[in-house]
Amino acid sequence: MKNQDIFQKIVSHCAQYGFVYPSSEIYEGLSAVYDYGPVGNELKRNIKNIWWLSMTQLHQNILGIDAAIFMHPTTWKASGHVDAFNDPLIDNKDSKARYRADVLLEEHAEKLRKKGKKEQAEQIEKRLAQCLEQNDLKGLYDLIIETEIVCPVSGTRNWTEVRQFNLMFRTEIGSVAGQGMEIYLRPETAQGIFVNFVNVIKTNRGKLPLGIAQIGKAFRNEIIARQFLFRMREFEQMEMQFFVAPDEEMEWYQYWKEKRLQWHKAIGISTENLRYHDHIKLAHYAKAACDIEYQFSFGFKEVEGIHARGDFDLSQHIQYSGKKLDYYDSERKQTYIPHVVETSIGADRAFLMVLFESYHEEQAPTADGKTELRVVLKIHPVLAPIKLAVFPLNNRDGLPEICDKIVDECKYEFKVVRDDKDTIGRRYRRQDLLGTPFCATVDYDTPKDQCVTIRDRDTMQQERIPIDRVKDYILQRISPSVILKKL
Ligand code: ATP
Repeated sequence: MKNQDIFQKIVSHCAQYGFVYPSSEIYEGLSAVYDYGPVGNELKRNIKNIWWLSMTQLHQNILGIDAAIFMHPTTWKASGHVDAFNDPLIDNKDSKARYRADVLLEEHAEKLRKKGKKEQAEQIEKRLAQCLEQNDLKGLYDLIIETEIVCPVSGTRNWTEVRQFNLMFRTEIGSVAGQGMEIYLRPETAQGIFVNFVNVIKTNRGKLPLGIAQIGKAFRNEIIARQFLFRMREFEQMEMQFFVAPDEEMEWYQYWKEKRLQWHKAIGISTENLRYHDHIKLAHYAKAACDIEYQFSFGFKEVEGIHARGDFDLSQHIQYSGKKLDYYDSERKQTYIPHVVETSIGADRAFLMVLFESYHEEQAPTADGKTELRVVLKIHPVLAPIKLAVFPLNNRDGLPEICDKIVDECKYEFKVVRDDKDTIGRRYRRQDLLGTPFCATVDYDTPKDQCVTIRDRDTMQQERIPIDRVKDYILQRISPSVILKKL
């Protein structure tokens, strides 16, 4: 399958089967904003849950919080976002299309590389890096002109100058129009953790090393937003800041770098589709940074970042708030500003990664000895939106009642549905499309032997088991511990 095809197929699959819809679709949607439908929502919650448990339940010294989206505006001055959370943008005067100048150049270099012009590509990348480092907008414009990049829409080279564009959304707090305080929708969840560091330490008898984890919405007014869930304007982050003694920072960085890759593998992502991308150019305060990238159809792209941030954030907040945010280490008998190792993953990018990894098209045998196309989402059972579908072979002879009994037994433990529409074959196909790992069929023998046939989505093997063992059979396979024990 061509890469473009698989991307389109996943987008359509999401809309068709209730995973993801464009936001406010009846009004033609809102660019780069999406809503999760019934099954998508379940999948996303399961991804977030396994992340949450892997942080806050597996580690005694990682505590979870839920900070507000709105924060005092000085937070964003201190964090550097007001002054530096910018992307360089450029418009084409003919098409009126807007681009990120750095992305135009990166894509151009990539095209040259594919054509075997490696040196030219490297030359462009070198100059691009220099311009970005020196904040040289004129340099970026000159490079776009020199490389003769054309607008993909109009095909012309009629460009505006390059300008900085701050990605934060602004709004006002307060009830009197014009007199309120200008505030921002948070562009990352991390700052809610930094400003609460002392609160958490004090109220939990906290000792370093100590992690604070959070899952929540973040907002960025992205310039180019055309990769579905990959680049959204409203998205969710799962972040953990690990506060450590300064001389232990790099050790912990290595630890989290390995641990986080392990997590991706444990949720069912194959090793060959994952890689590290170590940052060569670092922010001035950072000691080390790397991304965990997943191989999407549009290339290896960042899903998660792991950063050794030094004491930058806490020092900035000390400076701007005038408050004491340092830490007294009773074992070392020293006071210092903790250093931070951060792990930051987008819940929506993780969701998209799980879909790419699990989407399969294969030929499956039919009842009449032929084969047919089977589209199946092989989502890890722990993450799957629906765990068990129960089918009565027909709607008579007490079979539906037995199904209801199974559903009633299981519904307190996991998501189970009864499906009695269409033929059994079609019901299997539908559950395959939703990624349901187990289907139980109640047939004519069931009233006699009190057994049902359970089909495994991935192996297609069928197993006959007593009704009163169904719940435990599923529970054993969908318990979060199946994943957590691999970490
Ligand atoms: P990119 O370079 O792709 O813009 P970033 O380096 O700015 O990403 P971070 O600021 O490190 O991203 O954010 C941490 C994580 O949040 C990313 O790894 C990604 O999974 C997620 N994320 C960031 N921006 C978006 C977005 N616009 N839409 C969806 N997820 C996002």
